[in-house]
Amino acid sequence: MAHTDIMVLGAGIVGTSVALHLAKRGAAVALIDRAGPGEGTSYGNTGIIEGNTIFPQVFPSDFTALARIALKRAPEANYHLSFLPRVVPWLAAFRAASRPSRLIETARFMRPLFARAVAEHETLSAEAGTERYLRHDGWLKLYRTDAGFAKQSRELELAKEYGIANVPLDRDQARALEPSLAPVFRHAVHWTGAVSVSNPLALTRGYAARFAAVGGLSLGGDARTLHRAGSGWCVDTAAGPIDAGDVVVALGPWAPDVLDGLGIKLPLAVKRGYHRHFRPQGNAALSRPVLDAETGYCLAPMEQGIRLTTGAEFAARDAPPTPVQFDRLLPAARELFALGEPIEAQPWMGARPCFADSRPVISRAPRQRGLWLAYGHGHWGLSLGPATGRLIAEMMTGATPFCDPKPYGADRFTQ
Ligand SMILES: Cc1cc2nc3c(=O)[nH]c(=O)nc-3n(C[C@H](O)[C@H](O)[C@H](O)COP(=O)(O)OP(=O)(O)OC[C@H]3O[C@@H](n4cnc5c(N)ncnc54)[C@H](O)[C@@H]3O)c2cc1C
Repeated sequence: MAHTDIMVLGAGIVGTSVALHLAKRGAAVALIDRAGPGEGTSYGNTGIIEGNTIFPQVFPSDFTALARIALKRAPEANYHLSFLPRVVPWLAAFRAASRPSRLIETARFMRPLFARAVAEHETLSAEAGTERYLRHDGWLKLYRTDAGFAKQSRELELAKEYGIANVPLDRDQARALEPSLAPVFRHAVHWTGAVSVSNPLALTRGYAARFAAVGGLSLGGDARTLHRAGSGWCVDTAAGPIDAGDVVVALGPWAPDVLDGLGIKLPLAVKRGYHRHFRPQGNAALSRPVLDAETGYCLAPMEQGIRLTTGAEFAARDAPPTPVQFDRLLPAARELFALGEPIEAQPWMGARPCFADSRPVISRAPRQRGLWLAYGHGHWGLSLGPATGRLIAEMMTGATPFCDPKPYGADRFTQ
């Protein structure tokens, strides 16, 4: 049987970053996935490295918003009725975590990771030669109404406190940055410090190539074959069984497929999301991602075209796609930007792995020696992959972690 120091299960942006950080620190590392690096959830996101994020997504607090979602009229959210009974406890916890005091607490707990989001990507990209995929011109949040903009006041106050750069703009100032946007909005905020990615798949592939260059081993294999082997762990791969003393589960929305069988049942839900690429009409163009905040979708310029991404869908991870949100939001998107023909026949679907408190788990697994967890990054896995990789690599190699890992401990669910 082949032997390595550490196996990392899952080669999304999180697992690939974990593997690269460990290999850079001299460990012998095998990165195992059943597909190629970055082909899962990490393929299809909006491409925003959101160092600016302060508040997480929240459970709607006003009746009108809830009613629109319940009646399946909301562009920003959808659900499968048959799935709701399964997700009720998670939704209750999500609602509790959406209270103002909890949001402030979440912002504080998450700040150390977000503060490193851009810098850690820049470091890995400089080493991997993937800087060409990073755009350093921030992103825009647009507000169609004064009331919608006013709701951001607390976020802008906190941004000042945390020193997070942003520039509130009126419609004309925003259109000076993005002339192809139609004047259908009243306010914008330019989060100038954020970075966006023109091809998230190529970025993860670039980090995986760097991992190979520093001696890492990428293997095809099914993580569900993980089992105890003596004092360590073994996985069956296409190249035969391999064992290691330590294993990191970085399987994003698929983590429970492995962890449930080991008795580690953390309350993960998925928020499914879709994207579709469109050709711009005529000379229409975007330089950076744009959020139409009150409608709940993003437009992001990608190498493949203008990527339109949707908000959350509460449904079983593996249930057939139901991309009904496109019908609800396309009129608003076409009003804002001259979208032409769709490029693919069908939208892409992914599943954001989400804990109700909007924090990932980056820690040792409870009660399983040599098992580590790095998953549940929800809406922010692209942003936080490299920072997560650094943090867990520092924890595993006995270095001083760059931040206190306690808020991301699995034990917050088990104590
Ligand atoms: C529409 C949408 C927009 C988003 N926009 C943003 C954004 O702008 N910014 C941001 O920061 N985040 C964004 N996200 C979130 C982000 O994409 C995710 O948080 C992130 O990709 C999760 O990465 P991961 O590595 O944990 O999971 P994944 O990328 O899903 O990786 C898990 C890997 O595990 C592998 N795997 C699964 N099962 C097995 C098995 N049995 N054996 C072997 N391998 C297995 C998969 O093949 C996959 O490669 C968005 C998500 C969506 C859906």
